Amino acid sequence: MTSSDPAGTPAGWPPLRAELRGLEPYGAPQLDVPVQLNVNENPYGPSAACVADIATAVARAAVTLNRYPDREFTELRAALAGYLSRDTPHGIVPGQVWAANGSNEVMLQLLQAFGGPGRVALSFAPTYSMYPEYARDTMTEWVQGHRESDFALDLDHARDLIKERQPSVVLLPSPNNPTGTALPPEAVTVLCEAAAENEQTGIVVVDEAYGEFRRSGTPSALELLPQHRNLVVSRTMSKAFALAGARLGYLAAAPEICDAIRVVRLPYHLSAVTQAVALAALRHAPELLGKVDELRAERDATVAWLRDQGLSVAESDANFALFGTFADRHAVWQGLLDRGVLIREVGPDGWLRVSIGTTEEMTAFKQALTEVREEGQG
Ligand SMILES: *Cc1c(COP(=O)(O)O)cnc(C)c1O
Repeated sequence: MTSSDPAGTPAGWPPLRAELRGLEPYGAPQLDVPVQLNVNENPYGPSAACVADIATAVARAAVTLNRYPDREFTELRAALAGYLSRDTPHGIVPGQVWAANGSNEVMLQLLQAFGGPGRVALSFAPTYSMYPEYARDTMTEWVQGHRESDFALDLDHARDLIKERQPSVVLLPSPNNPTGTALPPEAVTVLCEAAAENEQTGIVVVDEAYGEFRRSGTPSALELLPQHRNLVVSRTMSKAFALAGARLGYLAAAPEICDAIRVVRLPYHLSAVTQAVALAALRHAPELLGKVDELRAERDATVAWLRDQGLSVAESDANFALFGTFADRHAVWQGLLDRGVLIREVGPDGWLRVSIGTTEEMTAFKQALTEVREEGQG
């Protein structure tokens, strides 16, 4: 938009920060296709009983919508603490819980509070593609180490990089997105100890967005909270909990970390409607989580099938599988889309990620992939 603009828009309009000019907003394509296996959603929606309960809760909240909501979301905090306590023998108390509009907002708040100019946020590639954006938006320096070829963390490298770059925030998805790799507890301990040896202790955020899908025998980092005051474990209702549309993410950490976040959060950031919906959904936790075991079985079957086709597949503790490698992954992605199956072009060169859907959806995916490969695309 320069001099040809009829309104005579001046150069440099709008006055965006220089480092943001020309950037596209992040987001996977939202295409209306029959089989959507691209953003790791739970394919199963809520039951009629759950929908009715949510509607009643929203109607009740609507009566007092002239008032601001409970800024401390006291009831929701207690419910989330109760839910998390199932994953650790030590239990979680409400003062250890923080929540916001999706774990994306939780993570942004963590960087607003603990990152900032002159500070470093660190992760290990391949990692969640949103992290560098939170760093950029909070003017935090973004540093990325690497992972092993099987996507496990190289602990010596991780320790060295923490010592060298002194990050105030280390961000680690476990299971990792886009690879599905879970962090063993020993790795979490090594990282927390390394960050505690910084001149100024850094926090280690283990992003368990896919935690409920982990394989049996893979513990949650929640169990390690009593041992590491700098550990933060983040969760979301968007994936296993089948509530992506409601936008509710949360974390468990030492109470002083939760208190620090309160300084940067917007007042009344969690609407009364969001709080009511999340509380009603938590009352239906067994139902909403009911399909997790089925999805885990479907995941294991999908991984086995892809390997039978001669493809490489990363070990997955999540509700997706990263597979490859293709000389032209875009051609494979497009070939699948032409057949009504939307997956994600993400991860290292040559790899593709498929979310685990219903058995019918996975059958459609397998059939489409077989056709695409028979036609020699990619
Ligand atoms: C999907 C995802 C989230 C969840 O984001 P919400 O904002 O809670 O929907 C967080 N972290 C990772 C790594 C994810 O893949």
